[in-house]
Amino acid sequence: NVPVIAVDGPGGAGKGELCLRLSKKYGFAILDSGAIYRVLAYAALKKGLALDAEEELSALASGLNLSFKEVNNAVAVILDGEDVSSFIRTEETGGAASKVAVLPKVRAALLQRQRDFAVNPGLIADGRDMGTVVFPDASAKIFLDASAEERARRRVAQLESRGVAADYDKILKEIADRDYRDRNRATAPLKPADDALVLDSTTLSIQEVVDTAVKFIET
Ligand code: C5P
Repeated sequence: NVPVIAVDGPGGAGKGELCLRLSKKYGFAILDSGAIYRVLAYAALKKGLALDAEEELSALASGLNLSFKEVNNAVAVILDGEDVSSFIRTEETGGAASKVAVLPKVRAALLQRQRDFAVNPGLIADGRDMGTVVFPDASAKIFLDASAEERARRRVAQLESRGVAADYDKILKEIADRDYRDRNRATAPLKPADDALVLDSTTLSIQEVVDTAVKFIET
């Protein structure tokens, strides 16, 4: 039984940073499941497919030629041999991802691909349904939340630190729309697993989040 730590929660709650710290601490690989949905949405838009074309999208999902590669200490996402990392990280692609993610056949088509990442010595699985659907037997489940306003503030700060101008109101609306879709879809809605530690990071530092998560994992 490969140890899996499931980290779920809405976008911008700090899951990425927590997963990175846990991966370093335990020497486990990371599954960025959101990147898979993002690549699928990107590939669909490139092909001109509608984001609700369930049959075509699930076929595309099954055949997706996708891999993760470490480049300069960051993880690059490779689609058909091309580094698409910069294209899939936009909020536009995030929104498109949350539309294809609503479709049950798409989610089913991606299920085994995600489970295949669980290899020794272990996996940190980052997503929305890691603890509820993909890895229901995970050794530890963490649900990291934060208010939409705080997540929008963090996103603005992140963009501005990269020299990118950011509009708080527009970002807050995008975050709220995506959340609504993720929390209210019929299949695998975003919610904590029954046995998850629910951690609200709104007023916590990243170190406090990591310390609380580690304590939970190790007890
Ligand atoms: O985490 P990230 O922002 O990259 O995810 C993009 C979108 O992909 C989410 O808003 C969600 O709709 C979808 N997703 C999902 N299940 C996952 C991971 C992501 O439905 N396990």
